[in-house]
Amino acid sequence: MNHPATTPARILIVEDEPAIAETLVYALRTEGFVPECVSTGQDALARLQDGGIAVVVLDVGLPDLSGFEVCRRIRATQGWQALQVMFLTARSEEIDRVLGFEIGADDYVAKPFSPREVVARIRVMLRRSAAAVPAGASSPAHGTGGLQLDEAAARISHAGRALALTRYEYLLLAHLLKHPGRVFSRDQLLDAVWGQDSDSSDRTVDTHIKTLRAKLRAAAPEADLIATHRGLGYSLAH
Ligand code: CA
Repeated sequence: MNHPATTPARILIVEDEPAIAETLVYALRTEGFVPECVSTGQDALARLQDGGIAVVVLDVGLPDLSGFEVCRRIRATQGWQALQVMFLTARSEEIDRVLGFEIGADDYVAKPFSPREVVARIRVMLRRSAAAVPAGASSPAHGTGGLQLDEAAARISHAGRALALTRYEYLLLAHLLKHPGRVFSRDQLLDAVWGQDSDSSDRTVDTHIKTLRAKLRAAAPEADLIATHRGLGYSLAH
């Protein structure tokens, strides 16, 4: 028997609607993943204890815990930080919350979705996590434009040299780095980086983008890493 070159990624689907769960199981299995299904938040947390899961596909509306609460617990659990979480959302107000950084989602798809889209996004998530550099590793820089995020050390380097960032510059750039190419509105960035407990405003975001740009330009004069999307917000080039 031949051993496969890589172990297929195990995907945990947390969804209480059997038809949706079955559709996802079928699509993932067809594409060579190993899907598993649970229908409650408690069962999801219990399954994660056993390890081996790479991506959690998490319905927001579950019969016991909300998907948000499950995600919060995942993010608060030592050893689960590398888990990738994709939300399945049904309503636009859920999407707003998912995009808020305090939830800690890596991606989301809105219902109704095409299973192909979910599979494609899972592939992107797995590529992204494979490219993440372990803390303290001295391998060449990965990530956008030579920027390297070391969350354990709360440090971002460019071409191996740590950038001198303030706390909020660091949090802002780290958030953009985790979602290269995704456009965030000022409100989303405010929620993600500053949270609810401050009297910061759109101007706070603009000011920090400006100082970040200056520091990035000093480190990498040839690159324009932060893109402005008029009327929409900002993204990191990818
Ligand atoms: Ca549901």
